[in-house]
Amino acid sequence: MSANKHSGPSVALLGGTFDPVHNGHLRLALDVLNLGFDEVRLIPNAVPPHRPQPQATVEHRLAMLQRSVEAESGLVVDDVEIRSPEVTSYSYQTLMQLKKLFPNIAWTWVLGSDAAAGLDKWHRWEEFVRSINVLVISRPGYCMPRSGPLHEWQQQAEVASIEDLLASTSGACYSLDLRDLAISSTEIRQMVAEGRSPRYLIPEGVLSYIGEHQLYRP
Ligand code: ATP
Ligand code: MG
Repeated sequence: MSANKHSGPSVALLGGTFDPVHNGHLRLALDVLNLGFDEVRLIPNAVPPHRPQPQATVEHRLAMLQRSVEAESGLVVDDVEIRSPEVTSYSYQTLMQLKKLFPNIAWTWVLGSDAAAGLDKWHRWEEFVRSINVLVISRPGYCMPRSGPLHEWQQQAEVASIEDLLASTSGACYSLDLRDLAISSTEIRQMVAEGRSPRYLIPEGVLSYIGEHQLYRP
């Protein structure tokens, strides 16, 4: 990776539905920041292409995210994908937009291993992984495939350390076991729908927001 050694800012991107944001997302973002990134940007999507549509509106999901990160200056909510909410959120297009706006930044897309296992179904995925670094964080219950196109890409793109990833402008992949937090938005939605408390799995501010706006009730 020495041919494209990077000396400018390194920014990590965490895309998701955040329906709602939970402590699994937030602790992941902070752990990633502490690896040596200058910033972690959380990008809520408007119309996710590969999954059922979110239950909460873009406005609610954005408000819950903003409440959750306001105390951490290194974590930033980026509304790049929800400025045109009628359009499907393709990460490749988002990345191209960001690269045009900030040409000196080296971007790393952060993915839980559940999302990473489906990366080869993404719009223009091969160009995407050539244009950015990818950081795969293990998520309880999911691992990457051991054969096929994703496995082959990982074999040739995987670097030996996080320092190598931070030194690269694009095309590198690194897989990391951070900490296993078995929390998902699906479970939070189910708990609220069934009248069970999701307290301590989500920030207090998100809990009160869900209550105030009667979200995720049947
Ligand atoms: P849902 O259950 O609705 O799919 P989710 O909890 O998976 O929600 P997403 O918004 O789909 O949250 O995830 C956004 C990103 O965060 C994905 O890359 C996902 O892999 C990652 N992620 C979410 N929760 C965790 C977790 N507990 N540990 C590691 N990565 C996570
Ligand atoms: Mg998910």
